[in-house]
Amino acid sequence: MNNPTYITNIAQVPQLSASEKESLTTVTDRFAFRTNSYYQSLIDWTDPDDPIRRIIVPNVGELANWGTLDASNEGCYTVAPGIEHKYPSTALLLVTDICGGYCRFCFRKRLFMDDNEEVPKDIGPGIKYIREHAEISNVLLTGGDPLTLSTRRLSEVLKQLTAIDHVRVVRIGTKMLALNPLRVINDATLPEMVRQFSAGICIYVMAHFNHPRELTPEAIEALRLMRSAGAVIVNQTPLIHGVNDDPAVLSELLDTLSFIGVAPYYVFQCRPTLGNEIYSVPIEQGYGIVTLAQSRCSGLAKRCRFVMSHDTGKVEVVGRSHEMVFMRYHQAVHSRDIGRMLVLKSNPEARWLDDYGEIAVGRDQGPTHKIGAMPPCNGDAAQSASSSVR
Ligand code: SF4
Repeated sequence: MNNPTYITNIAQVPQLSASEKESLTTVTDRFAFRTNSYYQSLIDWTDPDDPIRRIIVPNVGELANWGTLDASNEGCYTVAPGIEHKYPSTALLLVTDICGGYCRFCFRKRLFMDDNEEVPKDIGPGIKYIREHAEISNVLLTGGDPLTLSTRRLSEVLKQLTAIDHVRVVRIGTKMLALNPLRVINDATLPEMVRQFSAGICIYVMAHFNHPRELTPEAIEALRLMRSAGAVIVNQTPLIHGVNDDPAVLSELLDTLSFIGVAPYYVFQCRPTLGNEIYSVPIEQGYGIVTLAQSRCSGLAKRCRFVMSHDTGKVEVVGRSHEMVFMRYHQAVHSRDIGRMLVLKSNPEARWLDDYGEIAVGRDQGPTHKIGAMPPCNGDAAQSASSSVR
């Protein structure tokens, strides 16, 4: 199969009517649009609620004034141009602001806006920062999608990272295997590059499949090629209304991933990013969906955690009773919070941790306090950053 062609103008989507194109232009004037002929071919255009369509085709509901552009406060953890350091062992290197298509619910949609300059052309300062911070053992290449870079460019990035002794893992955060698996199938030098660098470090592909219909024969072949080359592949997906917020769909996704050797890693609560209200599922409803989906899966398929990438850390939703919701810090900006349990009064409308007014009980059974009083930023990683680079 030939490489797909890219479409960035909604008027060039032949399956949409003239009036749909006109109304959706008001959305694409605000939030960037990008898709490709391969991914478009997965859509059932006779179904207005088709889940693949919902992932990639704009929706006027995005114009609702809900959420913020940087819902996880990434700007606060940006320690040098293009590099974020929130948790001590892991740094994020933003290597591009292009993707194989722009998911409508993306939490980094700000990067695709004309006036955004968060992704630098030169990753030199980011590499320097990583080199100077021996606590960083994991580097996540992200953006944007690193697999939109040429293999030669990606190879240069990996060469610089593998020259740093304390970097043991490079993660490649990518939805390309879903959006355009031909990127892997039609470029033999890409798996070869993975094979070459896997001799020195561990390369993880952090895949992003949201719906079982994305797991086409082409996608499965691309996954096989990357795995055969030595990459470890895991999957993370946000829980998206109208895409995978159905236990039957989610369990099929998790099970199928496990059948083809991909470990389900995280199911994310959709971040309250500007324009994302129509894609978000209330947390407690989401917990029910994830739990029911997991109950239908094999042990290997149900390994994923349901988490929220909050400003203060990665918070896992671990249980609920009639009146309470139980969460636990899986990762935290302040290391003292790792493992901390939160017992919250149920709020069926809550879509983010901040929507819960009070923590009923903290790990230490200490005094009740407001979520908003929990200090973001200036955590362990940020403190060590401010003492050196900044
Ligand atoms: S591929 Fe990832 S970074 Fe790109 S638009 Fe989709 S969610 Fe955002």
